[in-house]
Amino acid sequence: MNKSFFYERRNPEWYADDLRKELGINDNSALDLDNVINALDIHLKQAPIQEGILGACKVKGLKKLIVISPDIYNNNQKRFTIAHEIGHLFIHHGVHFCRKEDFNMGINTKTKEREANQFAAQLLLPRNIVLNKLRTRDISLDIAQELSEQYEISLTSAIIRMIELSDENVALISQKNNIIQRVVKSPECRSILKNGKISNNTLSYITNVDKMRQEGYVDPNAWFEDSTYSQDTRCYEQTWYFSKLDMKLSIVRLEDDDY
Ligand SMILES: [Zn+2]
Repeated sequence: MNKSFFYERRNPEWYADDLRKELGINDNSALDLDNVINALDIHLKQAPIQEGILGACKVKGLKKLIVISPDIYNNNQKRFTIAHEIGHLFIHHGVHFCRKEDFNMGINTKTKEREANQFAAQLLLPRNIVLNKLRTRDISLDIAQELSEQYEISLTSAIIRMIELSDENVALISQKNNIIQRVVKSPECRSILKNGKISNNTLSYITNVDKMRQEGYVDPNAWFEDSTYSQDTRCYEQTWYFSKLDMKLSIVRLEDDDY
């Protein structure tokens, strides 16, 4: 296993692939992280770290330590945090202290944090599993929920994983109080999303505690800047409201006429 610590710089997902292969991990169920931690001889503990730090790790000689903050009580978040720290141990060595924003997939600008997230995503939810799902079905919150439950990864992480691997023209938009908080676009999506307050032509605008899930075609102009899509383009929106978090997640997909 230690040979993994001497690989030259390469795609972070390959480290995760190697690890899954070496440990004979099955693609049909959630990764047994305890098993991985034992196999890698990592000492894991949950204990207060510095203010604002959710996860940390250290490798010194053959000793590997991961600490996660007691502030993490959600199982899926805990799993992603541990997988991210394993990524640092494998790829970057040394000592790492990771803040909440470092775990954001899709918009991370720090190379090492982005690489640790890519490793974690591939370790927990390998791309071939996502691509198999998308081979026969359009991207949707329903698929993300299935993946989230089966692989014990957060719904948001599952959606972002799908968006990043999708060859469709699609985006995830999270909103709070009808204000856009965050956008993640697929590599194919070159149209520009509006920002700020959502339009009252979106389905999201009328999604609320009484009508928590809606989907259907909307005017592309409801979400996208006019000049950034062609005249024949159609826009399919799916929005779910999450009452506990008082937030909405929308997947919007642009379909060209010849699609
Ligand atoms: Zn990190």
